[in-house]
Amino acid sequence: MHIPFLDVSASNAELEADIDAAYHRVMKSGQYVLGPEMEAFEAEFAAYCGGGHCVAVGTGCDALELILRANDIGPGAEVIVPAHTFIATWLAVSSVGARPVPVEPAEDTYTLDPDRIEAAITPRTRAIIPVHLYGHPAAMRAIEDVATRHGLLVIQDAAQAPGARCHGQRLGSGCSPVAFSFYPGKNLGAVGDGGAVVTSDAALADRIRMLRNYGSRVKYEHEVRGTNSRLDELQAAILRVKLTRLDAWNTRRAAIAGRYLSELAGIDDVLLPRVASWASPVWHLFVIRSKRRAELHRRLAAAGVETLVHYPVPVHRSNAYAATDWPIGSFPLTERLSHEVLSLPIGPHLSEQAVTAVVSAVVEATDDKESP
Ligand SMILES: *Cc1c(COP(=O)(O)O)cnc(C)c1O
Repeated sequence: MHIPFLDVSASNAELEADIDAAYHRVMKSGQYVLGPEMEAFEAEFAAYCGGGHCVAVGTGCDALELILRANDIGPGAEVIVPAHTFIATWLAVSSVGARPVPVEPAEDTYTLDPDRIEAAITPRTRAIIPVHLYGHPAAMRAIEDVATRHGLLVIQDAAQAPGARCHGQRLGSGCSPVAFSFYPGKNLGAVGDGGAVVTSDAALADRIRMLRNYGSRVKYEHEVRGTNSRLDELQAAILRVKLTRLDAWNTRRAAIAGRYLSELAGIDDVLLPRVASWASPVWHLFVIRSKRRAELHRRLAAAGVETLVHYPVPVHRSNAYAATDWPIGSFPLTERLSHEVLSLPIGPHLSEQAVTAVVSAVVEATDDKESP
């Protein structure tokens, strides 16, 4: 049995008739950008997140960048980011001319460690970007406490966590602005790129709406040097269909994670993900840790189980940040994670039979009696 890491087409196949109808509706409308589908998606996604304002944009990376720009965070500013994250979090900060200042993760959730933030704050720090990594919410209460004490903005990177709850509250329902991604492989995926900002702040939403459309509210009147980053009608129409299934899909992911957590418990040298008491994750990824990751990866591949590494190169080690004009520091925990993490297949369309096969393959691959 071959088990792919994730079958992104399965969610589109499940909703084929509705997606086809959405496609034809958009094609016939003759309106492909800044139209009614995007407006409807914005209203529906805002409601899903708990009632704020949603501004749909071109990508998740743009969503982060536009929040920074709308807050006039740019050259000279520092922004605290997780050392352990996907590079997009850092790139959004770099692209506005600000400096990403990395902070190590907490050992239990792999998200930004609130206890290490204070040491990284300088007079130039303007914001903190916690990332709800792998679908597990960051420790928002503790992070917001630090931010309040120091007068900093919190910007949430929820690219991997639409629908997750923190202290019972859905991400996007709180005060700080949240960036989402609709990249096809995410929990709510388009059939191309897409992203959104969700915020309770009407003025911020209004400013981002202007920035995403060439800095213009009225055609050919350009208030600032904005950009072009708009969720197109086709993506919006398809996302509207898929949003109706997001909760069910997240529930299915949680059921698979529950099976992995119970059926893989107690294996030597396999550290399972932990869920903080205040968190309801949406299991974008199911990430285990092993000191013998390469061997485990190889054995699982031989058994037909595709696994991936998120992420093999820590951002501070990537060539993109090899030549910074500031000292970037050292991040031993992040480096250790980059050597040990391994993501097992998970997704709303992974069958029970496939989960069983993954469990058996992991058990066999970690059985030392079988080691050569
Ligand atoms: C995917 C992702 C992004 C960027 O989203 P795109 O839509 O690909 O631009 C940002 N942050 C994290 C943590 C992500 O996983």
